[in-house]
Amino acid sequence: MAKVAVVAIGGNSLIKDKDHQTVPDQFETTRETCVHIASMIEQGWDVVITHGNGPQVGFILLRSELASHVLHTVPLDSCGADTQGAIGYMIQQSLYNEFEKRGMKKQGATVVTQVVVGKDDLAFQNPSKPIGPFYGEEEARRLGAERGWVVKDDAGRGWRRVVPSPIPLEIVERAAIRTLLEAGFVVVGVGGGGIPVVREEDGSLRGVEAVIDKDYASGLLAASIQADLFLISTAVDRVALNYGQPGQKWLDKMTLAEAKQYLDEGHFAPGSMGPKIRAIIKFLEEGGKEALITLPQNIERALAGETGTRIVP
Ligand code: ADP
Ligand code: MG
Repeated sequence: MAKVAVVAIGGNSLIKDKDHQTVPDQFETTRETCVHIASMIEQGWDVVITHGNGPQVGFILLRSELASHVLHTVPLDSCGADTQGAIGYMIQQSLYNEFEKRGMKKQGATVVTQVVVGKDDLAFQNPSKPIGPFYGEEEARRLGAERGWVVKDDAGRGWRRVVPSPIPLEIVERAAIRTLLEAGFVVVGVGGGGIPVVREEDGSLRGVEAVIDKDYASGLLAASIQADLFLISTAVDRVALNYGQPGQKWLDKMTLAEAKQYLDEGHFAPGSMGPKIRAIIKFLEEGGKEALITLPQNIERALAGETGTRIVP
């Protein structure tokens, strides 16, 4: 097999900005990222693509809410499955068309992926991840009581439902992902961090109302299929120390030890760069050899060592 890369694409690979959120807009943005992933594949990489789904789940929840007087609402694990399918479709078709253009004999395939989380994960006692629409306090409290939701004020912007964000432990469909990869497919997997499930005493799986961080799940996947590279494509070309502050310094390279030190020093914001660096640290600690963070349009240049932040053991 060629060298294997897990490529985690961030929100900016699906939604460019607030004015470009429609499905055709998302397609256009997805297509742009897939050009760069196709280049990487043409250069000989075998690729598993993972992606976020935060805004897309938000849209489904809002639609579900607004229609709740005529139709059943959609449980969160189903929202995960729905978005894996819809986003997987956009990636598959974008890749198909790009491979056609390049005369490459390759195809994409999406694996609807369940990810096991611990029933005893402390996140279940402390739901912290805001999802879905904003409400006024009164309505939020009423919905909370009616539906058993935990609701909280989201940084003064309004009230929202909050759900647990447990740590991913096991990717249920990892063998299917690996097998498709070995058979030459470009695989789309663990979309949105995967569908969170818990394992019951009897070994059966059950979906839960939670969301899994896509960077953590992508790192776990990269480690469990022994990927050679964990590439995170996001909204910055490189990682910085003192990001957005005086003394900001862009990094070309970090060692594992440096990444841990900078994380401890607070250089990586908790809801954005923090999870990426944590996921990379875990991947490298589990035997991963290389991780890379860059913009989607800079993937080729970053692989050539011309830009991006490279993290190595
Ligand atoms: P994604 O959808 O790819 O997960 P996020 O917004 O969650 O994107 O994370 C990427 C963002 O992290 C960047 O756009 C940047 O604003 C922010 N960020 C926080 N700390 C840093 C840092 N130290 N260096 C670079 N970017 C940082
Ligand atoms: Mg993020």
